Amino acid sequence: MKPASFVYHRAHDVVGAGRLLAELGDEAKLIAGGQSLVPMMNFRLARPRHLVDIGGLRELSYLRVDESGLHIGALTTHHEVETAAETAPGSGFELLRAAMGWVGHLPIRTRGTVGGSLAHGDATAEWCLLAVVLDAYVVAAKGDGTRRKIAAHELFLGFFSTSLEPGELIVEIVFPRAAPHAAIAEFALRRGDFAIVAALVTLELDGERLRGARIVLGGVSEMPQRVPAAEAVLVGEVTSELFATCADAAASAIDPPSDANGSADYRRELTRTLVAQACKEAASR
Ligand SMILES: Cc1cc2nc3c(=O)[nH]c(=O)nc-3n(C[C@H](O)[C@H](O)[C@H](O)COP(=O)(O)OP(=O)(O)OC[C@H]3O[C@@H](n4cnc5c(N)ncnc54)[C@H](O)[C@@H]3O)c2cc1C
Repeated sequence: MKPASFVYHRAHDVVGAGRLLAELGDEAKLIAGGQSLVPMMNFRLARPRHLVDIGGLRELSYLRVDESGLHIGALTTHHEVETAAETAPGSGFELLRAAMGWVGHLPIRTRGTVGGSLAHGDATAEWCLLAVVLDAYVVAAKGDGTRRKIAAHELFLGFFSTSLEPGELIVEIVFPRAAPHAAIAEFALRRGDFAIVAALVTLELDGERLRGARIVLGGVSEMPQRVPAAEAVLVGEVTSELFATCADAAASAIDPPSDANGSADYRRELTRTLVAQACKEAASR
C-alpha cells in the first residue's frame, strides 16, 4: 500500500517545527521515526496533507542525568536507550533498558523514537507504561517558544489519545526518581509483537520489607492502567504468598477487553501470571 499524497516539510529546530504545526493546522502531522505513522498512512488510517519531519533535530537525541532526574530527548531512539552504557541512564534506571528489548524488532528500535511512542499513546507501548510506572513527566514545546510539563498520568486520555495541544511537540521525558527494584513482564504471541498484556512493577524495599509499590498494566484498558488495589497489598515482609495475593488483586481489579488476541478471561489470567512474575523479579534486583 502507498500513502495518500502529502506535502513534505523539514523542520530545522524545535521552534520552527512548532511554527509549522501552528501554521498548517489540523492537516499537519509530525513525523519522527515514522514507525507508527507510516504504516498508518500506508493503510490510509491516517491521511495528513502535510508532514513536518523532525527526524533531523539531533539536539533532541540525548540521555542526561542531573539533580532533577534522568532526561531523555524526544528523538532518542529505542535502540539508543537499549544500548546506552551501564552508566549513561544512571543507576536505578535498568528497567528502561530491559523494557526496550520488548519493543518490536531491531530495525523498528533503531528508527522509532521515545517522543513518537509517547505521542502515539498506544496502551501497550513500553514507553507509555514506563512513563506511568516511573511517575515521569514530558516537556512539550510550541512554536511561540513556550514549554510546559505534563505529568504522565495526565498525558494519556484514552484510546491513542493524549493531552498534547494542537501545535505542541514533545521535546523530552524526565524520570525524576530512580527505581532500582523494578521489572517488566510481558506476553506476546510472537517475539516483536505488541504485548497482549504487559505488567510493570516498582517496589520500595527496605531490606526484606516492602514499603510501597507501583503496578502498571498494558493491554487491559485503553491506556496504561495503575492498579491501586493490588499496590495496596504490597506492604510488609516479602513473601511469595504476598505476591500471589497481589496478582489475584490485580486480576480482580481489571475489566479487560476481548478481541482477536484473547478474551477478557485470558487477559485476566495473563495479568495474574505476569504481575506475580514482575513482583518476584523486582524483589530480586
Ligand atoms: C511491526 C511493528 C512492531 C512494533 N512493536 C512495538 C512494540 O512492541 N512496542 C512499542 O512500544 N512500539 C512498537 N512499535 C511502534 C514503534 O515503537 C514506534 O517507533 C513508535 O510507536 C513511534 O515512534 P516513531 O518515532 O516511529 O513515531 P512516528 O511514527 O514518526 O509518529 C507517531 C505519532 O507521534 C507523533 N509524533 C512523533 N514525534 C512526536 C513528538 N516529538 N511530539 C509530538 N508528536 C510526535 C506523530 O505525529 C504521529 O502521530 C512497533 C511498530 C511496528 C511497525
